[in-house]
Amino acid sequence: MDKPKDRLHRFLLERAGVSGVLVQLEEAWQEVAKRSDYEPAVASLLGQALAATAALSGTIRLSGSLSLHIRSKGDLSLLYTECNDDGRLRGLARWRGGAAEAIDLAELAEPLLAITIDNASTGQRQQGLVPVEHGALAQLIEGYFERSEQLPSRIYLACGGGRAAALILQPLAQGGGIGETDPDGWNRARHLAATLSEEELLQLPAEQVLLRLFHEENVQLTGERGLFFGCQCSRDRVAAVLRNLGRDESEAALQPDGRVEVTCEFCNTRYHFDRVDLEQVLRDLPGTPGSDSTH
Ligand SMILES: [Zn+2]
Repeated sequence: MDKPKDRLHRFLLERAGVSGVLVQLEEAWQEVAKRSDYEPAVASLLGQALAATAALSGTIRLSGSLSLHIRSKGDLSLLYTECNDDGRLRGLARWRGGAAEAIDLAELAEPLLAITIDNASTGQRQQGLVPVEHGALAQLIEGYFERSEQLPSRIYLACGGGRAAALILQPLAQGGGIGETDPDGWNRARHLAATLSEEELLQLPAEQVLLRLFHEENVQLTGERGLFFGCQCSRDRVAAVLRNLGRDESEAALQPDGRVEVTCEFCNTRYHFDRVDLEQVLRDLPGTPGSDSTH
């Protein structure tokens, strides 16, 4: 099989004492984008969020999943992107506005941005709420690192032409084990990265992006990983959702044909439960007193 085009690269700028992650998405992003007929501005934000989520997963030792979650009471009611430790990506957005040039997150009504890490081995969940003080996602995630990790960072996000990409730079902690740290290295790396155009970030092969920017910084690739679209929904998980909804709500969802249909919004897979299936799903739940006599 061909190497997938969708990849995450970790790298080190040895001279500057800076580490980085570069993510470029093509097929994985197109799989996410085609699930719904997104407004271009919504698609652009979703693509940036998907690339950012994948890149964030490369800044930590991830065991489980990392997700980025935006909610608001304005036109963008939900945007959710997720990356698993095996490189699996999925995401969706719900937009109730009309055509928009661009989405300024700070102008949404009561916007909420959260970054969540679910550790699969310990079952622990770590969630950081990011105050939405600026309109641009990249700057908001920079603020998240500043607050939660006391770590400066530079983040570039782009989406267009069927691709999405993210570049994250962070200075290595003092004594990072790579010899003398250049005191001006972080500034230099930031300024070099700022010369990259969105077009280059999206379209140039990863190695060329890094060489174009950092050829004098002794850039070294320290790891890479394939990324791909994939959904973890299953009939069991949907059944668990129905159980959580409870008997009344699940039964209310029965259609005239006697089935409940649940469509996964991430992958458009449809799950059907007829009355017998539903009764099995709800079997252990106590019937709500009095609720069975009103039909
Ligand atoms: Zn699914």
